[in-house]
This record gives sequence, structure tokens and C-alpha cells, in this order.
Amino acid sequence: MNLNATPAELEFRNELREWLAAHLPQPFEGNRSEEERAYFEYLKKWQRTVYDGGWAGLSWPREYGGRGAGIIEQALFQEEWARAEAPPLINVLGLSLIGPTIITVGTEQQKKRYLPKILSAEEIWCQGFSEPNAGSDVAALGTKAVRDGDDFIVNGQKIWTSLAHLSDWCLLLVRTNTEAPKHKGITALLVDLRTPGITVRPLKQMTGESAFNEIFFSNVRVPVENVLGEIDRGWQTAIATLMNERANLGTGSYVIFKRNLDALIARSRTVKRGTTTASNDPVIRQKLAQAYLELEVFRLTNLRALSGMANSKVPGPEGSILKLYWSEMNQRIQQTAMETLGPHAQLEDFDGGRWVFNYLRARGNTIEAGTSEIQRNIVAERVLGLPKSY
Ligand SMILES: Cc1cc2nc3c(=O)[nH]c(=O)nc-3n(C[C@H](O)[C@H](O)[C@H](O)COP(=O)(O)OP(=O)(O)OC[C@H]3O[C@@H](n4cnc5c(N)ncnc54)[C@H](O)[C@@H]3O)c2cc1C
Repeated sequence: MNLNATPAELEFRNELREWLAAHLPQPFEGNRSEEERAYFEYLKKWQRTVYDGGWAGLSWPREYGGRGAGIIEQALFQEEWARAEAPPLINVLGLSLIGPTIITVGTEQQKKRYLPKILSAEEIWCQGFSEPNAGSDVAALGTKAVRDGDDFIVNGQKIWTSLAHLSDWCLLLVRTNTEAPKHKGITALLVDLRTPGITVRPLKQMTGESAFNEIFFSNVRVPVENVLGEIDRGWQTAIATLMNERANLGTGSYVIFKRNLDALIARSRTVKRGTTTASNDPVIRQKLAQAYLELEVFRLTNLRALSGMANSKVPGPEGSILKLYWSEMNQRIQQTAMETLGPHAQLEDFDGGRWVFNYLRARGNTIEAGTSEIQRNIVAERVLGLPKSY
């Protein structure tokens, strides 16, 4: 892996730096949990600006509105984004897992129809895989779709669907063949969430926000042309999505992790610890240095994953290494934040409640996108070649 930027890549960085300086919005002023809709619209508008500027879908093919950028440009992009403290892009699931799946298995018509609107945030996407009795073993799913002419009729329930209450579309896994072995009777559907028969019910999380939902489907008609991949072979589509999820979600999070750690280090210099500040506490200094090292390891592991994907175009099981690492690293760093800032960091009026929110939100990191146990199973089987688990 050659990490030396060429003159063209440096020009890319300068162009991005100038663009960000000229277009960065004012920070969102309100309380993000209480004014969720306003914050959502703020981020949607920002993603539209990013798209109009030609910076959305950096690694996506140019013919679908992306920039066709290479690994060094993606790494430079992340660094500049973090440096400028630019807000995140709201259509995170569309950009990191659903769009890449459409690029891999979608028809030409589907690519033209859906990809540009994912990039511009005109259509927000969610991922309807998990069910009350099918999480780690998602192939056990029971939501059924029965063919009726040119439509499927869908009945069943999904759960833990992030962003569904704000989304327009859902990549939905359904069972289309109840006779076949469980991995062989699944189909992936692109579902318009405004179709009659769909009810989205937000679930309250321990952070106080309702970022994920239950979705109920009652006789919902979905056109057969909305099948992504092949009928009854949706498991292949699901695997493409899950591989992208594991490899890409953390990549996008680097910017957020970096910003949070920088803020924590800065805060350690002002927060009181006895007669001095936390930054003078010998144990805290060790922990902050350790957090810095871990984030560097993550950055480099990230580059290795990007480099692998640049060669193969599809993420491999190594994505599980990345997912396992960032999710457990973030929990350790949030623990360090609590120890650095002291008990008052648990109060909502301490720095706007950002530290307690981050600490509580990090608990879900080792569950979402596949639990740590599932990632270790994948590494054991597919990277180390150990026997399959039961
Ligand atoms: C914040 C958050 C956001 C999410 N967003 C989405 C979303 O947008 N869309 C979506 O579809 N889902 C989403 N999920 C759901 C998530 O994918 C599932 O929670 C996850 O896959 C685990 O499934 P489960 O909750 O049913 O737990 P279970 O599968 O019941 O697992 C329970 C425990 O058993 C362990 N376990 C299970 N099987 C094995 C095994 N074979 N070997 C060893 N240990 C095992 C697990 O590691 C876990 O500790 C989200 C979850 C969270 C927390």
C-alpha cells in the first residue's frame, strides 16, 4: 500500500479544503434529541449541498453520480472532513450499505433510478433485515411475500430498523419460498415506505432518542420489478449488504471518533481534578494516550480495508475485523471519557450532554451490524479457516 499522495491527490485535498471552507453550514443550534426533525432537515440540506458540490459517493462510479475516487482520496477526504468539523451525511445507510449493494447486484434501471437520489438525500433509506426472532441468524426471518401477478404481497414485522421513521425507502428481506432450506427462499425487495399497509413505530433507546423502529407490514403490495438481485436468492444480496455494512460503517465513523477524541483531549485540560486538571492525572494521561493509539490503529486498519476494496471492489470477511475493532474501541474510549471528565459528565447540562450520550450510544455498537460474537465467528471460519459454528 503506497500512502504517499501524488500531486493530483494533493490538489484534490486543497480543492476539498477550499470547498469546505466556503460551504460549511453554521453548527446546529438546537437539542438534537428533542428537535430531531429539525436536525434531520438540517443534515438533509447539508447532504444536498455536498452532492451539488460533487463530493457525495466519493468511491461510487461516475456514471451514477459518484466521483470514482481512489483509496488515498478517500483517506484524505476523511481527514479533511474531521479537520473542518463538517456535519455527517444523513443518508448513512443508503451511502454505506444499500447504494453499494445496488451497484453490485442491481439492474441498470435500478442503478439509474435509485443511486442519484441516495447521493442527494432526496430519498432516505433504511435496512429491514432483523426481526424479533431473527437477528444474528437473520436467515431465520419469517416476514412473508406471496406472488400475486406483477406484485408481491408482504406480511410480517421487522425490528431495530434504524432511521425508518425518517426514511422513504427500505431494503427489505422477505421469505418467498417456505419449502426451501432457510437460506434459499429469501428475496430482497426495494420497498417504498409510503405504500399502504406499512406502520412504523419508533422504539425508545436508553440515550433518550428513538433512532430505531419496529415496522409492520399488512398486505403490502410491492412490484416484482423492485426485487434486488434474484427471487429466492436474496441471501446473496443480503451478504453483499452485510459485507458493505461491516466494512463501510466504521469507515464513515472515523471522522466522528476523531472529532470526539480531539474534544476529549482538549476538555481534559480544563476539567478540574482536585487542585489541578484531569490532564495532569497520571492515570488519565495513560488512558488518553492509549485512546489516541487505538484510534491510529483503527485509521490504519481502515486504510487497509479501503485498499483491499479498491482491488477487489467488494469487501471481504476482513470487514468483520474492522467492525469488531471500531465497536469495541469506541466503548473503551467512551469509558475513558467518563473517567476523564468525572461524575458530572453524566449530567445532560454538562457540554450539552454529549459525553453521556456517546457513552450510552456506544453500548449498541457491539450489537448493531452483527454482534462481536458473530464477527469473531466470521473471522474464525472465513479468515482462519476453522470449522463452522453451529
Ligand atoms: C443501535 C442498533 C441499530 C440497529 N439497526 C438495525 C437496522 O437498521 N436494521 C436491522 O435490520 N437491524 C438493526 N439492528 C439489529 C441488529 O442487527 C441485531 O440486534 C443483531 O444482529 C443481533 O440480533 P439480536 O438482537 O436478535 O440478538 P440475538 O441474535 O438473539 O443474539 C443474542 C446474543 O447471542 C449471541 N449469539 C447469537 N448467535 C450466536 C452464535 N452463533 N455464536 C455465538 N454467539 C451468538 C449474540 O452475540 C448475542 O450476544 C440494530 C441494532 C442496534 C443495537
